[in-house]
Amino acid sequence: MKRGLPIVISAPSGAGKGTVIPLVMQALPDAAYSISCTTREPRPGEQDGVNYHFISEQDFEARVRDGQMLEYNRYVDHMYGTPKEQTERWLSAGTDVVFEIDVNGAMHIKESLPAEAVLIMLLPPDYATLEARLRGRGTDDDAIVRQRLEAALTEIEYLPRYDYFVINHTGKAEEAARQILAIITAERHACRRCPDFVKEFKAKI
Ligand code: 5GP
Repeated sequence: MKRGLPIVISAPSGAGKGTVIPLVMQALPDAAYSISCTTREPRPGEQDGVNYHFISEQDFEARVRDGQMLEYNRYVDHMYGTPKEQTERWLSAGTDVVFEIDVNGAMHIKESLPAEAVLIMLLPPDYATLEARLRGRGTDDDAIVRQRLEAALTEIEYLPRYDYFVINHTGKAEEAARQILAIITAERHACRRCPDFVKEFKAKI
């Protein structure tokens, strides 16, 4: 059976992933969203088991020890990780999986699934917009906002190791989602991903 496509979307905090990714998922009813585990507190409107599995540091460490994480990373001041078992089950059942993870996680996935994963970076149009979005959120204090801005500058340096980038212009989340969907469609139709097409075509003659 053809394996699912692992779709990795990284976005510096404040790039607008919270708006764009739900639009992408709505348009991909057959794809799965990899729900990460995190030790940070839920933001207003976030739900446990929907946006993240919100777990304690202790629980997180235990899951790492048990080998349950496909990858994990500390981001600013909390742990984030991708549960392993479900991901593999989805991919081997042919289900496409969307991973919304940071650059370190993306590099791990690229290493563990080199021929398979497509890496997309969602970006803000410029630094001023990123800062305004992070401050406008009003949920993080100044020190955290500054750490997230610094982290964003580091993350953008990884762009050459990604396959595609999409800019999320203010008020244009639908357009950013459409561009991501176009990339996914193109990747599903990449000849290198379907080496057995001709053989399967001829087998039905
Ligand atoms: P936030 O706290 O804004 O939801 O996420 C902070 C950062 O953690 C984002 O860059 C997000 O992509 C990243 N992140 C979320 N889940 C995971 C994960 O499972 N693994 C890794 N490596 N990063 C993650």
